[in-house]
Amino acid sequence: MPSSQTNPTELPRFGWPIERKLEPRQPKSLTKAGVSLHAAGDPPLIVRGCRESSQSTRAFCLWITFEDQLSKYAPKGWGPPPDSPTPPPFSIQPISGCGRGMVANKTIKTGEIIVVERPIVVHPATTTMILHHPNGMWGHLEDIYEQHFQLLGEKEQSLYMDLWNCKPVTGTLGNQLVGIARTNGLYSGFTRTKHTPHYAGVYPKISRCNHSCGPNADAKFDEEKMAMTLIAQRTIPAGDQVTIGYTNLEAPYSARQDDLNTKYIFTCACKHCKPSKPSRPSRPLKHPYWCFPNQTTGEHVDLKAEIDASDVRRDQISHRLAGARELWADWLSPSSRQSDRDLLQFHEDALVIIAQEGLEWTRILDIAYLAHACAALEDEGGFRRWGTMLMSISGTQGDEGKSQMKTWQDWVREPKTSPAWGLRVQARGRTEGTPSRKGKAWHISFT
Ligand SMILES: [Zn+2]
Repeated sequence: MPSSQTNPTELPRFGWPIERKLEPRQPKSLTKAGVSLHAAGDPPLIVRGCRESSQSTRAFCLWITFEDQLSKYAPKGWGPPPDSPTPPPFSIQPISGCGRGMVANKTIKTGEIIVVERPIVVHPATTTMILHHPNGMWGHLEDIYEQHFQLLGEKEQSLYMDLWNCKPVTGTLGNQLVGIARTNGLYSGFTRTKHTPHYAGVYPKISRCNHSCGPNADAKFDEEKMAMTLIAQRTIPAGDQVTIGYTNLEAPYSARQDDLNTKYIFTCACKHCKPSKPSRPSRPLKHPYWCFPNQTTGEHVDLKAEIDASDVRRDQISHRLAGARELWADWLSPSSRQSDRDLLQFHEDALVIIAQEGLEWTRILDIAYLAHACAALEDEGGFRRWGTMLMSISGTQGDEGKSQMKTWQDWVREPKTSPAWGLRVQARGRTEGTPSRKGKAWHISFT
C-alpha cells in the first residue's frame, strides 16, 4: 500500500534510478580528495599486484592505492575474469587521424554489452605528496610505475606498451608508463575508502575507444569484480566506431574543447563539434521547456549558430531534472492545472533532445519518470512498456544492480505495486471530493 494513502502530504520514494543510493561519506571532488589526503598526513602509495586467486603467480593488474583499501577488496584474489561476449562484436583497427580505435564488426543493439574487462593498471586520480618530487608532480608515480611494472605478465606488459601516449616524453621508462596511464585512464571508482574514491584504470580494449561528444557507448566500473563494462547506448551499425566521452559532455563546446586540448592534445571534430548538416530534432517539440528560438532552416550549416544551439540544448538537458521535480510536485498536487499530456510531453521531448545531442546515457531518468507517470495514471500497459525499456538499457551490475533489476521486474509484473501507482488519479479525486485539500501541494522526496 503506498504510504501516500496514510500520509497524503508525502509521496513514496521512487527508488532507482531517480533516487540513487547515497555513497558513504567521502570526498566528492578531486580537489576535496586532495585536501583530505593532505589532512591525513599524505599517506604513502602502495602497490598491489592483483591476482585471480592467492595461488595465481601472474598479476593481471598493477593497483597503486592507499593502505586503507588493501584489506577491503579481494584479500584472497579477484576470482576468474568476468564473462565477456564471445566472439567480440568489434575489432581494434587503425582510424584515419585517430591512431587506433574500436570498430563494430556487426550491428550492436542498444543496451548490448560490448566487452567486459579488467584493467592493466589502476592509480589514484589525485595525490598530494607527488608535488614534492624533484621530477615534478608525476615524478613519484613514475618511480612507482618503473619499479613495479615487471610484476605484470608479459602479455599485459606488451598490451600496455602498445597504447598511445600524448603526454610530454622525458625518456625514462617511468615517464612513458605514467604518460600512457594518463592518456588512456578511465574513471574507476573504489568507494570503500577514507581517502579518495577517484581512480583511473587503463583497459586493453576499452581504452582504445576514441572520444565523441555524442558517444554511442558508455563504460561502467564494477568495483566488486574490478572490471569495466562497455555498453551500447544506441544502435551501432557494423563498421561504425564505438565511442565514449572523455570530458563533461553536458558542458558547452568551448569548455569541452579546452579540456580535451589540455588533457589529450586534440581538437574534437565529432558531428556535434563540426556538423556537416544542420541538426534537427527527430520530431517537433511541444513542451515549452524544450522550445528553442532560431532553429536553423534549410541545408546551409552556420557553424556558430549550430554550436550555440547545441550548447543551449546541453544546458537544458543538464538542468532538466530540477524542472522535472517541480513539474512532478505540481502534477501530483490536487490544485495542479497541468494536463497529463504536459507532463508526459516534457519527458518525451527530453528523449528527442537527448538523442539529437547523442547523450543517451542520461535518458534512463526520463524513461523512469515516464513509467512512473503511467503508474500514477493507472495505465498498466504504459508502465510495462516504459519499465521494460528501462530494464533493457539499464546496464546495471553487481549485487546492487541485481536488486534494482529485481525491483523493476516485480513492478512490471504487477504495476499496482509500483510506488507511484494511482497518485494522479487520487489527486484528481481529492480535488473533486474533498475541497479542503484544494491548493495544498504534495512534496516529493528526492535525494
Ligand atoms: Zn565533439
